[in-house]
Amino acid sequence: MALRITDECINCDVCEPQCPNEAISMGEEFYVIDPHACTECVGHHGEPQCVVICPVDCIELDPQWKEGQDALMAKYHRLTGTEPVEQS
Ligand code: SF4
Ligand code: SF4
Repeated sequence: MALRITDECINCDVCEPQCPNEAISMGEEFYVIDPHACTECVGHHGEPQCVVICPVDCIELDPQWKEGQDALMAKYHRLTGTEPVEQS
């Protein structure tokens, strides 16, 4: 799943530079995540970096974007232009 930011966001700016996919940007009232660009940090980090750093815990899974690990990894490869590594 992609993640989403709730209206509890205090616009502290710390998550935006942490995102390896540049999926976070300022929205109309608070920061937002582009679900097409969020991989839950799969491919880059072991856990979502925005969730780790957010001081008010206002980033949650977006139930509208149900994606398994394989789909998130495929998104990672698409975003980075890298080829999946064949498992032998
Ligand atoms: Fe970016 Fe990772 Fe947060 Fe998704 S989970 S918005 S990829 S930092
Ligand atoms: Fe909002 Fe949390 Fe990001 Fe700060 S770290 S801008 S509170 S989502």
